Amino acid sequence: MKRSSFDLIVVGSGPAGLMGAIAATRSGLRVLVLERMPKTGLKLLASGGGRCNLCNTLPHEEFMAVFGRQGRFMQPALRAMGSSKLREFFQALGVPTQEEGHKVFPASGSAESVLDALLKECRKLNVEIRTSLEAVALPKEGGVKTAEGVMPSKAVLLATGGKGYAALGGSASGYGLAHRAGHKIVDPVPADVPLLIEERWPKELAGIAVPNVNLRIGLKGFPKAGTFGDLLFTHQGISGPVILNSSGLISEKLQRLETVPLVIDFAPDLGNWRKAGGNKSAANALRPWIPAALAKALCQLCGINPDATVSSLGAKQTDALTEQITRSTLTATGSEGFNKAMVTHGGIDLKDVDPNTLESKLQPGLYFAGEALNLDGPCGGFNLQWAFSSGHLAGQCISEAL
Ligand SMILES: Cc1cc2nc3c(=O)[nH]c(=O)nc-3n(C[C@H](O)[C@H](O)[C@H](O)COP(=O)(O)OP(=O)(O)OC[C@H]3O[C@@H](n4cnc5c(N)ncnc54)[C@H](O)[C@@H]3O)c2cc1C
Repeated sequence: MKRSSFDLIVVGSGPAGLMGAIAATRSGLRVLVLERMPKTGLKLLASGGGRCNLCNTLPHEEFMAVFGRQGRFMQPALRAMGSSKLREFFQALGVPTQEEGHKVFPASGSAESVLDALLKECRKLNVEIRTSLEAVALPKEGGVKTAEGVMPSKAVLLATGGKGYAALGGSASGYGLAHRAGHKIVDPVPADVPLLIEERWPKELAGIAVPNVNLRIGLKGFPKAGTFGDLLFTHQGISGPVILNSSGLISEKLQRLETVPLVIDFAPDLGNWRKAGGNKSAANALRPWIPAALAKALCQLCGINPDATVSSLGAKQTDALTEQITRSTLTATGSEGFNKAMVTHGGIDLKDVDPNTLESKLQPGLYFAGEALNLDGPCGGFNLQWAFSSGHLAGQCISEAL
């Protein structure tokens, strides 16, 4: 096939790019996919700890709400391919899926089966895939420039993903391409990333997980109710779903502020531990609600001997400990950075992209899909579904437009 014979060049072989290529090719277009890494779909392979949480079955309204104010932009893509249609798509490719809560995984339990199915379909449809070839410019007259020269095409789909996990293909390359085409880039910051904290005591607890804590960002403008989820102490700070899911917003604040206060309730359902305690040590009495190691650390913060019996503690001491359990303040100073960021918060500004087609409002024939756009969701299959749904919509709209 001659280079000039491509209708569409897709930049990026992640879930958004491969899905876009399949949708466009099924509608009769001749498609080339360019991938700068030596292998395709590396992030998809690593996703969900290798299990690939590929979508989420929450109703669309709730799905969009978890992406914040920007979420509504996704509506046309979700209508074109929501979680049911995506599951049917994979079922037809020989990858049945199963639901755990609202999270959907391949029944095989393997991300490899998802990537293999996409690549097999690409081969069947004659999608050409070139690896180790980076798009370095998007010439105004169309097509894509690489180290091999300009590859002409009628349309380009930029599905270059975010900046996180460089070893899996994360880079700012796509932002540069979009920026040079006139698009504004909302400052990318790490999201779904562990946080660094100022306090030393939590670092002694590295490896300890605390289920279902409440996290509130102690700054104006953040909901007083906070969010719930599991927390994990790390050698450098804190992680776990409740932290990862808020880390993009916290990273954004940390661009302008040196620190961000986090108010943590380690036991939102804390009962009357004093009454239940009696002759037990404080650390033991708190065991139904928090891990013993955390209870000991919190006792020490309040100047209480963790081995002292509850009945020997005065009201001031037990009040102080209750306060420490339910309103601990930790100070975020940064994050573990893009190399540990599963998602990027920020990216190509949505205002210059048509949500109905995902075409650029500035450069006709240029389309976008996936995480490269300024949309990021929490853990739970949200980001992969956005990548698949937007890739599908873009592929369809490109074939309708050509
Ligand atoms: C460890 C890990 C686990 C994750 N787990 C989950 C999960 O279980 N569920 C979930 O929903 N999300 C998960 N995510 C997030 C999810 O993987 C991403 O949001 C998703 O892969 C984004 O898809 P994409 O196609 O937009 O971009 P990507 O998957 O990042 O693909 C973009 C591709 O474009 C290539 N590229 C970039 N620039 C160029 C260029 N100039 N020329 C050529 N190629 C280029 C990159 O090398 C890359 O291969 C996880 C992420 C990580 C890192």
